[in-house]
Amino acid sequence: MYQLENSGSNIWVKKLYYEVNEMNDNNTFLKVINLKKWFPVKRSLKDTILMKPKLYVRAVDGVSFKLKKKEILGVAGESGCGKTTTGMTLIRLYEPTGGKVIYKGVNIYDLTKSEFRPLRRKFQIIFQDPYSSLNPRQSIYSIVSEPLRVHRLADSEEEIYDRVIKALEDVKLIPAEDFVTRYPHELSGGQRQRVAIARALITDPEFIVADEPVSMLDVSIRAGVLNILLNLRDKYDLTMMFITHDLAVAGYISDKLAIMYLGKIVEYGPAERILEKPMHPYTQALVSAVPVPDPDYKKERIILRGEPPSPIFLPTGCRFWPRCPHAMDICKRKEPPLVEIEKGHYVACWLYAEEKEG
Ligand code: SF4
Repeated sequence: MYQLENSGSNIWVKKLYYEVNEMNDNNTFLKVINLKKWFPVKRSLKDTILMKPKLYVRAVDGVSFKLKKKEILGVAGESGCGKTTTGMTLIRLYEPTGGKVIYKGVNIYDLTKSEFRPLRRKFQIIFQDPYSSLNPRQSIYSIVSEPLRVHRLADSEEEIYDRVIKALEDVKLIPAEDFVTRYPHELSGGQRQRVAIARALITDPEFIVADEPVSMLDVSIRAGVLNILLNLRDKYDLTMMFITHDLAVAGYISDKLAIMYLGKIVEYGPAERILEKPMHPYTQALVSAVPVPDPDYKKERIILRGEPPSPIFLPTGCRFWPRCPHAMDICKRKEPPLVEIEKGHYVACWLYAEEKEG
């Protein structure tokens, strides 16, 4: 099935294009296939009268990956690359424009809203901003216990109290009894984010989308929150999608990494490998900007020209070509496929693929 071929460089290219649904996936927890989320652009009255074609912001435009149980997938890229929209669509906070998310053999988008409701508690999200994601008028007890009431997951107030205390202890807000009566403004940023994690955790989720959970926090407390997430993953067998624009953070917490550019994954594979040897020109530029804690180490920074193009009027071919230092003629004509260049490491770039006939 695999045909190896010397590409002319030292890289052996597997000429098998990335087809998630063909992969051997006995231990796959979640499979995302060709996920799309397009937002319609509001048209003016004149455009409507002139019957101009509808325009869309293609925030997510054909994203595929799979996750094993307990795996953490870091999703990184510049602002506006579609990482948050991917996370929110994946757990149906947005309805998709197309694609599938297979969980326990079922495409969750085939479920009606009421059929999906019991699953909702299994898919939770932690938002970026702990200052706006917690209601300032609710006590910590009220905030953390709310999902139990909404999903009717506890039989008595006593059970609710015990579960709130346990969730707060899990996120190291100790003694938990002291925190339940407090309000968000009485907590530090790190403590608020732990409350947000406790709230996500209290429904016994299996999958968590963590949307830049440490980006608003002081650098000195980021590691503490990341370690809490890693401990919770081990303790409760959680699978996670960790969205970040900080590759150093992504490298610390992730098993796998997906680099997104303008709604598409351009590189995907083991996090360590990608950070050590990035292959896509965009990833190379991102990695070159990560600071190294060694004053003697001289690293050449790759500066990309220009800004990402509009997600409404996308460039033809490779979406990165207007900024790519290696752009070739084919890049402007044809979109590169995501190709496996070494085991589990995929790159969408014509430097590593060959044009197919037709
Ligand atoms: Fe650059 Fe071409 Fe590769 Fe796109 S396909 S990243 S333009 S070399």
